[in-house]
Amino acid sequence: MAKQTSNRELEQELALALERDEFRLEYQPQVDLKSGDIVGFEALLRWRPANGREVGPKEFVPILESSGQISQVGAWIIDTACGHWRQWADSKLLPPGARIAINVSAHQFAKGDVGDLLQKSIERHALDPASVEIELTESAVMLNTSKTRKELRQIRELGIGLSMDDFGTGYATLAYLRRFRFDTLKIDRSFVRRICSKKKDMAIALSMIQLAHILELRTVVEGIESPGQLVSLRRMGCDIGQGHYFSHPLPAETVPEFLRDWGGIDGVPKLVGADT
Ligand code: C2E
Ligand code: MG
Ligand code: MG
Repeated sequence: MAKQTSNRELEQELALALERDEFRLEYQPQVDLKSGDIVGFEALLRWRPANGREVGPKEFVPILESSGQISQVGAWIIDTACGHWRQWADSKLLPPGARIAINVSAHQFAKGDVGDLLQKSIERHALDPASVEIELTESAVMLNTSKTRKELRQIRELGIGLSMDDFGTGYATLAYLRRFRFDTLKIDRSFVRRICSKKKDMAIALSMIQLAHILELRTVVEGIESPGQLVSLRRMGCDIGQGHYFSHPLPAETVPEFLRDWGGIDGVPKLVGADT
């Protein structure tokens, strides 16, 4: 009951959040595990209500989804992330071929305008569509309506990349890999946590990486927090890593400094960014 009440309160607060300018995006770098180069950033939504504590996306994104506000907020996310990417490209700090990964919720497909929104933002900010990738969770892909399929086709035709987020945590994953054309498979961090100590976790991570490579997909591993995890994943041939070991998600204004200071994997002296 208490939870319902607080969700209703959050929903009311969220309804005003966009016009009150309470959302912002943070960006977490993605690192090529072979070269140590930065190859992209994932945009992550943040919300601090007026006079309140910061609420995590795991708490408020489901409320945005159930209330339908996700389509408006999702449009803001796409356009804001594309705008930041333009700024960083203009400052010549982005390595060639770097990509911005944007999370898209299944519920955004209900309105049928995600492809159009992406196209407009890419044109408005004069981006190469190949520099944009959208991350879908397995459950998003499972909303297997004709609308979703049509949208995914449009997104592919625009030249935007498709990434399957949180791979290994949901249902019917393998069937969806067969049905849709993905470029990237993001292995959930629950498999990485004990990769150094649990044989089973290591075997599962390794087989996911191998499967991805057979299917000619790029692998991104989330949640690298220690040098031991990094070494194991490098050995397994994982392509790209993301996690606190490299950097916490960064406020947009600190990304240029991060890019200027990045010294490669072996030069990472300490955890970067705020504590979360
Ligand atoms: P996700 O897309 O799988 O994002 C990765 C999450 O892992 C982020 O949590 C990130 O901060 C966290 N993370 C990254 N590296 C590490 C690490 O080394 N250790 C640990 N413990 N955590 C790490 P965050 O930002 O709280 O986001 C949670 C989820 O909320 C996201 O999972 C995504 O499903 C959703 N979300 C976030 N931003 C957006 C958005 O813009 N749109 C939509 N639709 N969903 C979003
Ligand atoms: Mg994601
Ligand atoms: Mg994920």
